[in-house]
Amino acid sequence: MKSLSEKIDLKNLSPSELVEFLASFGKERYRSIQMLRWLHQQGVESFDQMTNLSKAFRQQLSQISFISVLRPVRVEKAEDGTQKFLFQLEDGNRIESVLIPDKARLTLCLSTQVGCALGCRFCLTGKAGLKRDLRVSEILNQIIAVKKMLPEKTTITNIVLMGMGEPLANYRNTLKATALMAHPDAFKFSSRRITLSTVGLLPELEALSKEKPSFRLAISLNASDEATRTYLMPVNRRYPLSKVLARCRDFPLGRRIRITFEYVMVEGINDSSQDAKRLLRILRGIPSKINLIPLNEAPGIPFKKPSEERVKRFQEILMEGGLLAIVRNSRGREISAACGQLQAKGPLTLPPPCETVPQRNV
Ligand code: SAH
Ligand code: SF4
Repeated sequence: MKSLSEKIDLKNLSPSELVEFLASFGKERYRSIQMLRWLHQQGVESFDQMTNLSKAFRQQLSQISFISVLRPVRVEKAEDGTQKFLFQLEDGNRIESVLIPDKARLTLCLSTQVGCALGCRFCLTGKAGLKRDLRVSEILNQIIAVKKMLPEKTTITNIVLMGMGEPLANYRNTLKATALMAHPDAFKFSSRRITLSTVGLLPELEALSKEKPSFRLAISLNASDEATRTYLMPVNRRYPLSKVLARCRDFPLGRRIRITFEYVMVEGINDSSQDAKRLLRILRGIPSKINLIPLNEAPGIPFKKPSEERVKRFQEILMEGGLLAIVRNSRGREISAACGQLQAKGPLTLPPPCETVPQRNV
């Protein structure tokens, strides 16, 4: 009998890898569709639940593979309905996901790494550095675990890869996971409802432009000139603003698709009218919209957020210049669930995980 570490975690496999895996047992292609549905739509936790597979085959499967599961070890709810889920991974590392209700939408914000290597000065996630990349299964299991906690008939409508980590720094796993999110036999999210946020790692953006990504792209801009961006985001030294924007300009976008630019507003650093005007200039020619995110302040972050008037003025300048600019007010601040606040720290408040999740299919 193989130990768990030698067995294959089936949720790490892409649809074509699953076909290959099943073919090695002499199983037909359609079995992979059944399997994708059990794993990702039904969220089954044991082979015994895969009732359209023979008992003998299930037995065979369990000898060389397993179904990984994540369960939250802490769930916090903010007054505005935002919920934060803390997960403990097999190796003891921790990550967080955030569920954000907003009118008709229910958005789940996923992590792609434990920590982050990029150390933006306004972000708490980067403070402790990068521990490791998440596996495909660990990215996907956040969705399955949260779905199981939801009341019946409540569905997650949107996925954003904006939690802990830089998704493009974990390129292969993130792309495999997003492909499964959009796959009709797996999670079935429309690719218009999946958004990946990145600082704009150039080699990965280049690679991405050659694939047909199953998500919308959001770029964390956060400044309108090189010096300010380098000050706020050290990664700008390697991948400067001008080159990131040039890549965005060439990026093959679908019809009526725009790139979202995120702009964390920091008092006295990037919030002047001049910044807004420069932003209009540098984004010219790129189908774009911009999300203005007033800084979420936190101990350890040496900045303040601008006044509401300043944010409003900044937005007006952009709108007058013909750019769609939306102010994203922070959600779930009191439970540290807002952008840049995820650290996966603090006590566990739930009893041992097994008892916490009602056993129901998703
Ligand atoms: N690493 C990726 C995705 C995770 S961060 C990225 O940086 O794009 C998601 C968003 O949160 C980014 O746009 C980032 O600029 C923003 N953010 C980080 N810290 C923040 C803070 N303290 N206040 C407001 N937004 C913040
Ligand atoms: Fe990493 Fe994004 Fe935070 Fe920067 S803002 S440190 S890239 S998670």
